[in-house]
Order: sequence, then structure tokens, then C-alpha cells
Amino acid sequence: MMAKQSDVVITINNLKKQFGDYQALNGLSLNVNKGEILALLGPNGAGKTTTINCLLGFLKPDSGEISIAGIDPQQDVITARKKIAYIPEQVALYPRLTGIENLIYFSKMAQIEKTELEFKELLKFVGLPEHAFSKQVAGYSKGMRQKVGIAIALAKNAQALILDEPTSGLDPSASHEFSHLLKKLASQGVAILMATHDLFRAQEDAHRVAIINQGQLVDTLGFEQIKQVQLETVYLEHIKGAVTC
Ligand code: ATP
Repeated sequence: MMAKQSDVVITINNLKKQFGDYQALNGLSLNVNKGEILALLGPNGAGKTTTINCLLGFLKPDSGEISIAGIDPQQDVITARKKIAYIPEQVALYPRLTGIENLIYFSKMAQIEKTELEFKELLKFVGLPEHAFSKQVAGYSKGMRQKVGIAIALAKNAQALILDEPTSGLDPSASHEFSHLLKKLASQGVAILMATHDLFRAQEDAHRVAIINQGQLVDTLGFEQIKQVQLETVYLEHIKGAVTC
């Protein structure tokens, strides 16, 4: 089904980025729609993190267009970042603060005002066990830290959620719980872009899969296709001969 123009939250059009002689992005085009989970697959060095860094305004592309909920991060990075929540592979929190203190601290930094009860509701929503709310983050598992990261993202009311390798290092049950949370967020209308090597989660969770290689889109699979194909076979076929780095 074609998305309505108004449903498109993240637009990447003909993006190019070169590092020295290396063309990391070579005309990449992608969209992510409201309420959609898009899994971005590609071998090491394919350009996934470079794409994310361009979306977040950490890197300036050489050419091409980007839009996050109508805002170009190259023109107005502050407003664009307000629309995006970013969960890196390792969520950076203050280890000596508790989960709730981290959530309150990062929300205050983003000028978000909420009551303590509302912050607690967010932590409950993401599935952090209540006994952990007031424990130091230093003792949290990776899955628990990610939940706090998602709660920070939710407090921001971001329209786009960008994740880089979110399930690496999570045990199967934490990974399953995480995927449940992503689906819940998508059902609330958040556009989710997830760069991952986890083909199992991509097949289970994504509404669409985009495979990139050498900075270019090589295939997109829609929901029906994802469920019908052996994703690993399709993926390996597309990246055959890829020089990974
Ligand atoms: P991975 O799956 O390993 O995370 P990736 O798809 O995220 O890979 P990128 O990190 O986007 O790939 O890297 C694309 C290419 O660009 C790689 O060859 C990488 O070495 C190179 N690259 C990325 N950032 C820089 C930089 N700041 N300076 C020079 N080269 C860079």
C-alpha cells in the first residue's frame, strides 16, 4: 500500500557522503512512515550508521535531501532533533543516578516538564520493573537501560525513533520484550528506523525491510514478502561479494 504524503515522517533522498576516497553513501533513498517499523539491513560498512548520523545532524551529507517530520536537519538541527529520539547500541545514562532520576534529568535537559507520577507512568509503560525505578543504573542490565532510553524518548513525544543495533547483546527474552515495546510505539504512530544485523528480529518485527550495500538501497521488502521469504537467503543473495569493513 502506498503511504499518503502526510504519513511520511523520515525522508532520505539521493543521499551521498564520501570519506576520503570512500563513498559511504552513494545515492541512498528511503522513507519511513508514521506507525511503521523499518529494519535497515546491510553488511558492516554498508552505510547504516552514516545514514543515522546524517539524520541526527551529526554528519553533513555531501548532497541529497533529508527531512524529519518536515524539518531538514541541515537547515535546523535543533528543531529536527526535537522530533527524533535516538537509541544507540549502548544507551548512555548516569550510572550513579537511579532510573527515574536519569529520566527526570534528561527530560529537564530537553525542557520537558512532567510530574513524578507521569515519569513513573512512562517507566511502567516501557516495562521497567517497579522495584528498579529507584535503584542505581550501574546495576541495570542492557535491556533495562534501553527501557530507560525509550522512556526518555517517549517523554520527548518524538515522531521518529531511530535505533542502531538495539538488540545486540540482549538475551532472547529481553529481545522479545524489546520488540513488543517497539510494536506498541509503532501502533501509537511513531515512525521507527532500526539499523540491525538481527535478521530474526527484522523478520518478526518490521513492516518493511530495506537492504543496503555500499551506500545504496539494493532491495525493499514489504510486509507480505517479509513473512513469505527466508530473509537470510534474500539478504545473503543481495550482499554477495560485498567487501565488509
Ligand atoms: P556496521 O554494520 O559495521 O555498523 P555500517 O553499515 O553502520 O556498518 P558505517 O559505519 O556507516 O557502516 O560506515 C560506512 C563506511 O564509512 C565504512 O567503511 C566506515 O569505515 C566509513 N566511515 C564511517 N565514518 C567515517 C569517518 N568519520 N571517517 C572516515 N570513514 C568513515
